[in-house]
Amino acid sequence: MKIDIMTLFPEMINAVMRESIIGRAQDKGVVEVKATNIRDYALDKHHKADDAPYGGGRGQVMLAEPLYLCHQALSAGEHVHTVFLSAQGQPFNQQKARELLAKEHFILVCGHYEGIDQRFIDECVDEEISIGDFVLTGGEIPAMAVADAVCRMVPGVLPDEEAFTAESHWDGLLEHPQYTRPENWRGREVPEVLLSGHHANIEAWKREMSLRRTKKDRPDLFAQFQPQDKRDKKILDKINSDER
Ligand code: SAM
Repeated sequence: MKIDIMTLFPEMINAVMRESIIGRAQDKGVVEVKATNIRDYALDKHHKADDAPYGGGRGQVMLAEPLYLCHQALSAGEHVHTVFLSAQGQPFNQQKARELLAKEHFILVCGHYEGIDQRFIDECVDEEISIGDFVLTGGEIPAMAVADAVCRMVPGVLPDEEAFTAESHWDGLLEHPQYTRPENWRGREVPEVLLSGHHANIEAWKREMSLRRTKKDRPDLFAQFQPQDKRDKKILDKINSDER
């Protein structure tokens, strides 16, 4: 998996993506997350990458030409799926991360200031993705969020598939609560079933907690959920009867 990130601030990306799990995956060569400085493609002597908006208004807009030349260099004559991180994009979620995982190579474009010239978007961008209904100073944090969410699903990054399939949002639910040592922490006990060693009961408890938590904290997700099997139906009956 190769992810190219077009940015005016490559050091922001490198500082994060070279650390921890994704950093180690890059060292092993399992994934490559490469930040490229758009300014290197600003060909005037001052390496100007932005200018005042036409029509007036505050701030600066990133120039189309350096973005285009940078994009041309990274795509090297091929069509490479290109995503512009934008507060106006479609909301990012696990499903979108899985769609991007299916691509061997994609490009993430980070805006800054007031954003980027629309003509570059019209010419080179396949889709716009937002990480939420709020505005950040730049696309670097959203690009890193997208790159991290995709990279952790690449085989060889985490120990096995279960490390990302048994997590919140994989099957539309939130994960069950987690506990570690000690058994009693400041008077708060670990649920007894987790100490029982009874595998089937532990799995049933985890599923029940997952369903209860999703119903309570994310009713929007819960409304979409379809029971997977008889066990789910039984748990849902139990939750419903508890609430009566
Ligand atoms: N003028 C733009 C607007 O009103 O939609 C906001 C520009 S924002 C200050 C600068 C850049 O940050 C954007 O071009 C985009 O790349 C990035 N950005 C800001 N918020 C974002 C979000 N929620 N999701 C993804 N990217 C975002």
